Amino acid sequence: MKKIETEYCIIGAGVVGLAMARELSLKKKKKIIVCEKEEHVGMHASGRNSGVLHAGIYYTAGSMKASTCIEGNRLMKSFCKSKGVPVRETGKVIVAKNSSELQTLSMLEQRAKHNGVEVKLINAKKLSDIEPCAKTYQEALFSPHTAVVDPKVVMQALYEDCTQRGVNVLFNTPFTHFENENTVIAGDYTIQFDKLINCAGAYSDIVAHLRGLAHHLTLIPFKGIYTKLKKSSSLKVNGNIYPVPDIRNPFLGVHFTVNPYGDVYIGPTAMPVFGREHYGLLQGLGSESINIALKDALLFFANRSFRSVAIEEPKKYIPYYFYRDAKELVWKLLYSDIEKTTKAGIRPQLVDWTKKELVMDFCIYHDAQTVHVLNAISPAFTSSLYFAQLIVDRYCM
Ligand SMILES: Cc1cc2nc3c(=O)[nH]c(=O)nc-3n(C[C@H](O)[C@H](O)[C@H](O)COP(=O)(O)OP(=O)(O)OC[C@H]3O[C@@H](n4cnc5c(N)ncnc54)[C@H](O)[C@@H]3O)c2cc1C
Repeated sequence: MKKIETEYCIIGAGVVGLAMARELSLKKKKKIIVCEKEEHVGMHASGRNSGVLHAGIYYTAGSMKASTCIEGNRLMKSFCKSKGVPVRETGKVIVAKNSSELQTLSMLEQRAKHNGVEVKLINAKKLSDIEPCAKTYQEALFSPHTAVVDPKVVMQALYEDCTQRGVNVLFNTPFTHFENENTVIAGDYTIQFDKLINCAGAYSDIVAHLRGLAHHLTLIPFKGIYTKLKKSSSLKVNGNIYPVPDIRNPFLGVHFTVNPYGDVYIGPTAMPVFGREHYGLLQGLGSESINIALKDALLFFANRSFRSVAIEEPKKYIPYYFYRDAKELVWKLLYSDIEKTTKAGIRPQLVDWTKKELVMDFCIYHDAQTVHVLNAISPAFTSSLYFAQLIVDRYCM
């Protein structure tokens, strides 16, 4: 075992871990180590997401999501531009299917305005100027500041920026346990730290539990898969077309997103799956799978909104159901216009077992020497650079 002494030890080189490392280096901290179990950055959620830089519309007032998304969006755009990373700034529309969705749309408009987000309710004529193929019932909500990036390119730029600033990222270095109060074992290393920040994404609950924290909270995985619009399709999509979401759960519904290279993705789904890395049909199943299935079953009976997700989402393994959702958003989508892709990501969603509820906001636990970022779900990719400022200022200085 090699011994290292460091001021800051960060577990996980996802967008949250790298944003923390970068923020510490901007604050002139010198000894910063990031332990990453994989051999590259961006192998999990941060490299497998839709790349949408959200504007901050959906989030309840006072939540960490609401307070970090707008500034996070601004900082991430500016970081990307400074590094030559392409940003597609076409905005987004949220379209309604019927009159009851209009009420939610208007509630979202109020929420957005309360959060300080620029949005506008527009009529069908104005919608067709922005997105000629989008359809809506009477009105839609337009968000001009939503943008799209390639998350893998952002992750590489963030990694390079961190290393240039002197951050030491140790790949193939999985954290396994705490040896004592201020020492961890990770891969071939024994690392003694002054402060540890747990940014282990889908495994962050396990790290917190090993520290004796947050035992009533565990993560369960939801898989997002995507289809794509064929190049031969005559459907024209300029930016992002989203449905009105079911605001009782944290997922936004299948939507259209155009990436910076002009490819139109449709997705992602939010299917309950049985492994923290259950990306394939069998790939990612393991000893924990039965335990996760039991948790899903418990939640299925105890929580109505989880139940509706668990019933509806797995149907989308059958492409017709995917198509059924997508064609609600646009005119003239043909079944033959969409093709399958291999793009898939897992959203680790925190569940509070005392309430049997999905936790809707980011969640922080800490003790004198450690900070644990739990539930870094969407929009954590968007929020990351500003979120890191808040966490570092509050817990690490
Ligand atoms: C399908 C999908 C679509 C999404 N779309 C968007 C979007 O459009 N916009 C948006 O803002 N957000 C989106 N999100 C959410 C966003 O991707 C996440 O909020 C964000 O990437 C979380 O970052 P993270 O660093 O916490 O997690 P991760 O990216 O998962 O990083 C955690 C890292 O920790 C490492 N790790 C885990 N355990 C250990 C260990 N024991 N030792 C060492 N390393 C460890 C992992 O290998 C990983 O690299 C989406 C997510 C998904 C899955």
